[in-house]
Amino acid sequence: MSTAPKAARPGDEIAWREAVMHLYKPTDPTTGVIVKNEPCTAGKKSAGFVRHIEIDVSGTNLVGQCQPGQSIGVLPPGVDTAGKPHKLRLYSLASPTGGEDGAGKIISTTVKRTIDEHWDSGKLFLGVCSNFLCDAQVGDKVSLTGPSGKKFILPKDPGNHDFLFFATGTGIAPFRGMVMDLLRDSPRSRVALVMGSPYATDLIYDRVFRDLAAKHPSFTYHTAISREDNAGQGRLYVQDRLRTDRAALEPMLTSGRTLIYVCGIAGMELGILQELARTLPPSALEHYMEVDPAARADIGSWNRSMLHKQIHLTRKVLLEVYA
Ligand code: NAP
Repeated sequence: MSTAPKAARPGDEIAWREAVMHLYKPTDPTTGVIVKNEPCTAGKKSAGFVRHIEIDVSGTNLVGQCQPGQSIGVLPPGVDTAGKPHKLRLYSLASPTGGEDGAGKIISTTVKRTIDEHWDSGKLFLGVCSNFLCDAQVGDKVSLTGPSGKKFILPKDPGNHDFLFFATGTGIAPFRGMVMDLLRDSPRSRVALVMGSPYATDLIYDRVFRDLAAKHPSFTYHTAISREDNAGQGRLYVQDRLRTDRAALEPMLTSGRTLIYVCGIAGMELGILQELARTLPPSALEHYMEVDPAARADIGSWNRSMLHKQIHLTRKVLLEVYA
């Protein structure tokens, strides 16, 4: 049976950066050294504990080979309750392509402590790897794999594009590095970052982004606090900023240059896509998605299972969402 070739869609022509993959595998990891470990939430009394952790990878093949949007793997020491070595955990890189040092020797990531209760016993549960990393002291060694991931990265020619980043929680990690890369290397690009968190004290890298926005007129930073009032605008999710900050964001969305990146909690992508479908004129919407007529007629009833079936995203929308 022959299938007709799919028609070219917006974004198919974009050339993406090449990503180096799997220099170190779990069976043959390398070792990095913690050189910084500090809180990175806006308030000391944040509801969650999130830390910015820098790792020196000097002398390994990881030097200069890690880019924002990729992950590194961490093998925590010790064994699980069955006596087996703990499994690998992946963490998004927060560093720009040149690393924290400009030479690619210091990479960074953003780690939230996993703190929970066991469902059955009601006893405290502490995530193994996140707490190992958050407790790590400067000078401690860490077993690393990676890098991994090649789909959530910047294009080869960023100057041809503007960038609209949506993050919730630790989903901010890749955008720290991407924003730094773009503001350094791509003066023609406009960059907007919309960051969502439960409380203002939970905003991650808030000072970093405020400072960058003050220095770079091409960069705007928009926060959406979901459990507190936002300067008289009520409680907001990231997608609500498409409405409240329309004057700043819509010109980017209608220009045809913009790539949309979404990273964070699973479900956030749906609200963003619905808001785009409700507000953008068809000539702008077609840059980002093609929607079957029945779905277009009832945007309020969209659910995640419709993605890629009734809602077809173009390559100008990049999603990295985790439950
Ligand atoms: P968090 O601090 O709890 O913040 C999440 C924010 O998103 C809250 O303000 C929450 O609001 C809001 N939210 C919940 N449902 C939403 C929806 N449907 N649409 C829009 N906003 C919504 O976040 P976190 O604990 O750091 O979790 C971040 C998530 O990102 C995790 O699931 C993590 O696995 C994922 N993540 C993914 C990657 C990746 O894919 N590479 C990297 C890092 C993190 P309310 O709670 O008030 O409803």
